[in-house]
Amino acid sequence: MALIVQKFGGTSVGDIERIQNVAQRVAKTREAGHDVVVCVSAMSGETNQLVSLAEQISGGHAPLAREYDVLLSVGEQKTIALLAMAIEQLGHSARSFTGAQMGMRTNSDHTRARIEQVDTLVLKECLSEGTVCVIAGFQGVDPSGRITTLGRGGSDTSAVAVACALDADVCEIYTDVDGVYTADPRVVEDARKLSRISFEEMLELASLGAKVLQIRSVKFAMRYGLRLHVRSSFSSDEGTWVVPEEDVVEQLVVSGVTCNSNEAQIRLQNVPDQPGIAARVFTPLGDAGIVVDMIIQNYASDGSTDMTFTVPRGDYAKALSIAQEAGRELECETVEGDDGIAKVSIVGLGMKDHAGVATRMFKVLARESINIQMISTSEIKISVVIAQKYAELAVRALHAELIDVLDS
Ligand code: ADP
Ligand code: ASP
Ligand code: MG
Repeated sequence: MALIVQKFGGTSVGDIERIQNVAQRVAKTREAGHDVVVCVSAMSGETNQLVSLAEQISGGHAPLAREYDVLLSVGEQKTIALLAMAIEQLGHSARSFTGAQMGMRTNSDHTRARIEQVDTLVLKECLSEGTVCVIAGFQGVDPSGRITTLGRGGSDTSAVAVACALDADVCEIYTDVDGVYTADPRVVEDARKLSRISFEEMLELASLGAKVLQIRSVKFAMRYGLRLHVRSSFSSDEGTWVVPEEDVVEQLVVSGVTCNSNEAQIRLQNVPDQPGIAARVFTPLGDAGIVVDMIIQNYASDGSTDMTFTVPRGDYAKALSIAQEAGRELECETVEGDDGIAKVSIVGLGMKDHAGVATRMFKVLARESINIQMISTSEIKISVVIAQKYAELAVRALHAELIDVLDS
């Protein structure tokens, strides 16, 4: 007998029939003799609708974060109740738990809270009675008892955190594609399904735009050495296993191409070339809770330099006004922004020992006449910032050219 955590995303629980299908899958797992914890998302479209309600009532201002979380958590609460009812109808005992009821303890950083501790007592008690635990993904409770949410896509993280805390044998992530592909299969028609991918590569892909897994879920799995099985809720085919590097058999040099269109760029021109300037520019951004991603500072000439960086698009307006304020104090020539950009990246562990991948990437972009605005690299990834209108073209061209560079 194993303990299995199964997570179902929004499309997988998108209507009553789909919830009934999920119930059947859970029932089958129970009938095979396993203990089951099911973690669910809101029905597809539900969270977006709640976001839109909050935006309407806030009339152009940022919604009050703590009440926004109360509102957004409603979506998952609906699904747990419906799924528990459907499982009971199939003759199995099931009980629903909100994040607070099950003890998903987070910090108070509303809308993007971090999990601090997962209580296992209630869940273990429920499992020992032979009952399926149906838990709400995406939500938790802070030290003062307020409801929090974990950021968009956060149900992945809820499921993995619970699987780690319960020391589950398997954590299955059921979604609307049948695994992790070499690129988003909705953008690149001939993207290939990977049978295995390393934690490190998955971490990069998730952080660079592949929304199939929320990045924090991969961090948890990696830290606890928990293998994840990403698979389709509409078939019983084997999906993709996210595993330690040494377990990946077919190692591609480039195993994924991905794109993030959720960033914006800010450029300060003629910043004085003196010690302390970067700290002056980036400290107020950090104080405002804005996470800066890529940063480029040009070689200085005539005592001044240019500085360009990217921020999440949701923080663009705030970041631009902070940068403009810093720019005024530093007497910069101009401070301007651009929210029509995309970051396109290639990821692969094999890049560690293969030279020339960057050159091939740049040649492909040149052939397509796509101008590169920024470049950043790490051991296993290369990212470029380009105009957003060319993002899909770039992803397709890079996939066609680079994904078949097999290790030899
Ligand atoms: P869920 O609602 O099940 O959590 P998501 O919509 O969050 O599902 O994530 C699944 C989606 O991720 C897929 O429909 C697919 O379009 C997208 N995706 C992006 N990159 C990839 C990739 N490399 N492999 C698989 N899916 C990807
Ligand atoms: N319902 C939340 C969202 O749409 C969480 C999730 O689905 O993972 O982002
Ligand atoms: Mg998701």
